[in-house]
Amino acid sequence: MSDGVAHARILRVGQARREISRDPLPPEAVAAEVDRLNRALLGTRQDIQRVRDQVSAAMGAAEAGLFEAHLLVLEDSTLLNEVLRKIRTERLGAEAAFHDVFEKYVSVLAAVDDAYLRERAADLRDLSGRVLDHLSGAVHEHELSNLSEPCILVAHDLPPSVTALLDRRHVLGFATEAGGKTSHTAIMARKMGIPAVVGLGPLLDSVRDGEYALLDGHGGLLTINPTDQTLFEYGQLKQRRALFEEKLALLREQPAVTLDGHHITLAANIEGPEDMASVEASGAHGIGLFRTEFLFLNRETRPGEEEQFEAYRTVASQTRPGQEAIIRTLDLGGDKMPGDLRREGEPNPFLGWRAIRISLDQPEIFRGQLRAILRAGCHGRVRILLPMVSTLEELRAARAMLESCKEALRSEGVPFCDSVPLGVMIEIPSAALIAEELARECDFFSIGTNDLTGYTLAVDRLNERVAHLYQPTHPAVLRLIRMTVEAAQRHGRPVGVCGEMAGEPGLVPLLIGLGVQELSVTPALIPAVKFLLRRLRLSEARDIAQWALDCSGGAEILQRSREVALAAAPNLFGKQ
Ligand code: PEP
Ligand code: MG
Repeated sequence: MSDGVAHARILRVGQARREISRDPLPPEAVAAEVDRLNRALLGTRQDIQRVRDQVSAAMGAAEAGLFEAHLLVLEDSTLLNEVLRKIRTERLGAEAAFHDVFEKYVSVLAAVDDAYLRERAADLRDLSGRVLDHLSGAVHEHELSNLSEPCILVAHDLPPSVTALLDRRHVLGFATEAGGKTSHTAIMARKMGIPAVVGLGPLLDSVRDGEYALLDGHGGLLTINPTDQTLFEYGQLKQRRALFEEKLALLREQPAVTLDGHHITLAANIEGPEDMASVEASGAHGIGLFRTEFLFLNRETRPGEEEQFEAYRTVASQTRPGQEAIIRTLDLGGDKMPGDLRREGEPNPFLGWRAIRISLDQPEIFRGQLRAILRAGCHGRVRILLPMVSTLEELRAARAMLESCKEALRSEGVPFCDSVPLGVMIEIPSAALIAEELARECDFFSIGTNDLTGYTLAVDRLNERVAHLYQPTHPAVLRLIRMTVEAAQRHGRPVGVCGEMAGEPGLVPLLIGLGVQELSVTPALIPAVKFLLRRLRLSEARDIAQWALDCSGGAEILQRSREVALAAAPNLFGKQ
């Protein structure tokens, strides 16, 4: 989903309904058909190179990496030979041959029980759609870049290559039948600030081009032919939101301090240096979580030490003086695995080869990353954060590796910062339970409530059948957070939360009441969380946290914490 409201006529992007002829080719037409296919492939390649260059200029190399991967697929000889074989021996037309071969691969990927791979299936369909457009002479994206009137796009699954280049003046929003919040399309919409609702299910058949629709990215709704009353209500809501946003913007340079004078560090979560502009605009106090694995995804080759150094140096040098950037080492695995590290048959990837486990197993990757961060430490204050630590030995092994990297840099005469703090993410229950021992040997904690909740409750939140059991306010989760905070306090270590819980206004009273001193959230949420913090009393937050620790029901705890937040800042919840 991507926030915001849009009201305009619908334009359906109908690439899902392509008619493909299955009439057999006469033998004398085969050569010409192969020629036609080659021309379409060439045209597609040129299109993608152009898109890649435009995306790279507008959004950075990391976003453009996806299109490099598309180009490689277009050169995949196994795939193309299969298409040629179908044209030559089965006498299928180029469209049918290409469609059938691609669909075979796409359906295998789409059926895999892995959200990341399923999203890649959508990427492959995007590519296949482009080739088919070339074969049929229809250049779909070209049409979208020549729009003359404002519209809301409705598509089966708007491909990321098209989303990245949407004409913002005319495309006021979009809705798709397929996709999830981890799809590239949704991520791009959020970054570009286009209101969007994805994954709405069957939709294309129930709307018509030219019909008016109201798209509410916040509420996840698409209303066809909205009544005057609905439009009036949304108009009012939009006005209220705009006024409130103006009010929030005034807080940019204000500290995140509670009514009773306690400072909370309100930092930003980022995925790459290109996010630094929004960090600066948000008024965040430094970077609380740089998810560096995104530098490794959507590309064919891994970034080496120099490329990583550039990324970390940019982030460090753009972090304001006196503030810090917490750089997390690779948290690959689970739903975030680049192709070259993907191994066959991990029966349970979330309990498998992940994060610090990969780093310690692949010292050449880990060393390159640690060296790059140590070097970036000369250009701004950075800290290193280790993800998915479950044992003390992992911390010790990482510390030893860090020291050996320093030794090597020293002997090579390469400048680096000798005093970069080393912290541990607390996101596995075992880490919370040994927080005392970890606190003794590390410099700070950051609690990853997304994973901590999942692992504590044994709930996969991507699985909609058990999603209702995913409850960050479950007393077991809160008690683990409290244990972590107490251990950190005994050893004088700072402790923050960088999971989604930190950005949910209804949960902020609980977290600060439990003793968390730093909250790290996506830049867009900084103003709202700051607004709330400045209206809360820590003493009151502590009371409710204390009550929650003795309480047995997660739903009850959620409700009480929400009430405190609502009473302090009703506008945040749409109330006056
Ligand atoms: C977490 O688990 O809360 C966290 C911040 O890490 P990620 O969401 O990247 O797994
Ligand atoms: Mg995590």
